[in-house]
Amino acid sequence: MTKGADKKLVILGAGESGIGAAMLGKRYGWDVFVSDGGTIKKQFRDAMLHAGIQFEEGGHTIPHILMADCLVKSPGISEKTEVMKQVRAADIEVCSEIEFGYRYKGDSKIIAITGSNGKSTTTKLAFHLLKDAGMDVAMVGNIGYSFAKQIVEQPCEWYVMEVSSFQLDDIRYFKPDVAVLLNITPDHLDRYDYKFENYIASKFRITENQGPEEYFILNYDDPVIREYVATHTINSRKIYFTMSEQNSIGNEGGFMENDNIHIRFGGEELNMSIHDLSIKGKHNQYNSMAAGISARIANIRKEKIRESFATFEGLEHRLEFVATIRGVDFVNDSKATNVNSVWFALESMKTPVVLILGGQDKGNDYNEIMELVKEKVKAIVCLGIDNKPIHDAFDGVVTAVVDTKSAYDAVHAAYALSEKGDTVLLAPACASFDLFKNYEDRGTQFKDAVRAL
Ligand code: ADP
Repeated sequence: MTKGADKKLVILGAGESGIGAAMLGKRYGWDVFVSDGGTIKKQFRDAMLHAGIQFEEGGHTIPHILMADCLVKSPGISEKTEVMKQVRAADIEVCSEIEFGYRYKGDSKIIAITGSNGKSTTTKLAFHLLKDAGMDVAMVGNIGYSFAKQIVEQPCEWYVMEVSSFQLDDIRYFKPDVAVLLNITPDHLDRYDYKFENYIASKFRITENQGPEEYFILNYDDPVIREYVATHTINSRKIYFTMSEQNSIGNEGGFMENDNIHIRFGGEELNMSIHDLSIKGKHNQYNSMAAGISARIANIRKEKIRESFATFEGLEHRLEFVATIRGVDFVNDSKATNVNSVWFALESMKTPVVLILGGQDKGNDYNEIMELVKEKVKAIVCLGIDNKPIHDAFDGVVTAVVDTKSAYDAVHAAYALSEKGDTVLLAPACASFDLFKNYEDRGTQFKDAVRAL
């Protein structure tokens, strides 16, 4: 597919990726129509008006949508919606925005990063490693522009792309030069018929079009990944990273030894102490190995990578240090929206912790963090409307489990329960939508309340 030649492209969902796909479609001669069931943000509406793209909002005109030759679906729209049921029944080609963008990317190369946790951090880090080395590179996906928009506005030689399972659900030819799979733990199961195997299969689609020429970087320590690889055919060139099984790596991959990260590729080995990495915690050592291997594949010199690892600035709301107040450290990990990310947050803590937990529960199994909670957590402050699952799990395990319903109250309660030398950690393990607009809003309100103390 190179030119639309007046074929009809329908975009469902006028968000960042939808608008990007609309612009790209328009550029290549498609007759574009954008349909959004809700209200379209002003900036996006203006962009479409400016570009002369037809759109509707507040509902979908089904007959119009069913005229599509190709339909790009926003990752947020579920297959269970009425409009998607009709689109499927009409047998219209559906693709995700990364699939649509892929068809117009030319000779450029893609590093695509997926996993249940760590996508944004690893994407930003890999981008930083390439950018710092002077490459012509853009960061696309959930952070930065959408892939399609970047192709329209400023095409690059390399794209470092954060890829969600929803984006992978509707690919067809999408074939990254380098694919990264960080980890797989249960998440978003509501979109996968509550079947973990469906979600796993979706993540592995990142490699489905790859052959021996393309690289697939994956986590050797993740039991779900290992099991899948052992039972399925994968044609790409696999490169593992691990903390536990150094011998499994051979002469390509990443491993840890005595607090040092080692990355082997292209007959060379990069060594770096974890103490010189700018981002902390075991999870970030995994992320660093994955990003580092990607950068070596992109031919960045190991000395340069080592330098850039040290200067990387992590992302807001991910284990972000906020302030020390009367000897108590406050850390904002509002993006820890599942139990696994809280495990890594607690694992990285060196002091007793007052943990702020709660929000919209996604069917959490708190047993996963029970040992770490017993070892490190002295009090839990619940921040959510329904805190029952937290009480059920931790009443009687942790001395104090108190309820709050605002970031302000949570910070004050946590401060009252802490003493010099402790850390107050916001790592909610839950979505934020019961009390906040999103995780950014929750993190920002937390930080404001801390600074006001
Ligand atoms: P994603 O984009 O996949 O949601 P982020 O980089 O935004 O990932 O991080 C989300 C949360 O997961 C944060 O709390 C972060 O500290 C934690 N995290 C980051 N990397 C990992 C990892 N490799 N394994 C587990 N948790 C991680």
